[in-house]
Amino acid sequence: MEQIIDISVVVPLYNEEESLPELHAWIVRVMKANNFSYEIIFVNDGSTDSSWQVIEELSKTDPAVHGIKFRRNYGKSPALHCGFQASKGRVVITMDADLQDSPDEIPELYRMIVEDGYDLVSGYKQKRYDPLSKTIPTKLFNATARKVSGIHNLHDFNCGLKAYRSEVVKNIEVYGEMHRYVPYLAKNAGFDKIAEKVVHHQARKFGKTKFGGLNRFVNGYLDLLSLWFIAVFGRKPMHVFGFLGTIMFFLGFVAILIVGGIKLTAIIQGVPAPLVTDSPYFYIALTMMVLGTQLFLAGFLGELISRNAAGRNHYQIEKTI
Ligand code: UDP
Ligand code: MG
Repeated sequence: MEQIIDISVVVPLYNEEESLPELHAWIVRVMKANNFSYEIIFVNDGSTDSSWQVIEELSKTDPAVHGIKFRRNYGKSPALHCGFQASKGRVVITMDADLQDSPDEIPELYRMIVEDGYDLVSGYKQKRYDPLSKTIPTKLFNATARKVSGIHNLHDFNCGLKAYRSEVVKNIEVYGEMHRYVPYLAKNAGFDKIAEKVVHHQARKFGKTKFGGLNRFVNGYLDLLSLWFIAVFGRKPMHVFGFLGTIMFFLGFVAILIVGGIKLTAIIQGVPAPLVTDSPYFYIALTMMVLGTQLFLAGFLGELISRNAAGRNHYQIEKTI
């Protein structure tokens, strides 16, 4: 597909009515100053305030403004996914709607993709203006994500400000809460020229964070675990379950040999043989065989499911402009 637009800016938003006019004006200012052709895609993730009316107003005065309105709040990942699908620019830039990310970074991010040839450039909020309760767990989270994903040069996986080559966003599926791991998704899809750029960060001007609470960390780690599993075994679940199942069967088999051996030696020596159920090895054999069978079953089911996974990215879009 021939792309004629330089940049698509994708902005997922949930109840950010106060920030939108300022954000829009700022993006337009930067685009005009650099002579970029552009579009701005606001993805309204089921806001309950007047965000959608604001977007409609903006689109009346600026034809570069597009809007997607979810019928309900699905989350940042689905919002990004639909924004990605709709984007037409050669370079796609995502940014949060809350004015914490600065549109002034756009020209340099664009240059890094187009001239330096990176697939993905992630912002790095070296100096953050967020409460400590956010920044400390984030450090831990990023260290783990670096280790698991093997992308060692990223300090800030979750930064909302990122730039992508168009092919990247068209070929990955951001779902669930996976927006925290888009670089990992990109890498798994084969886009491994990933770089980082230190970006300006500001304190939230209006409203409050949509990602409070403790469970985001638990969920964050569980998501990382699933992504790792999918990346390593997603296309071959039998390899992991079959392996574990084989170990179980092997242990069970050894236990059976021991039980049988005890019985046999007793018979050969002509002493009364103990009941097999008196031996702990009998129970070990039993358990291992049952577990082994179940693991193999899980493996077969996994294989079936991985061949039929479709439709996990169907969202109800109420309107588009
Ligand atoms: N957001 C969204 N859907 C949600 C939650 C958040 O589209 O369910 C948007 C939000 O409006 C903002 C961005 O995702 O544009 C980042 O959210 P936030 O600023 O609350 O996160 P933080 O900066 O505190 O990590
Ligand atoms: Mg924010």
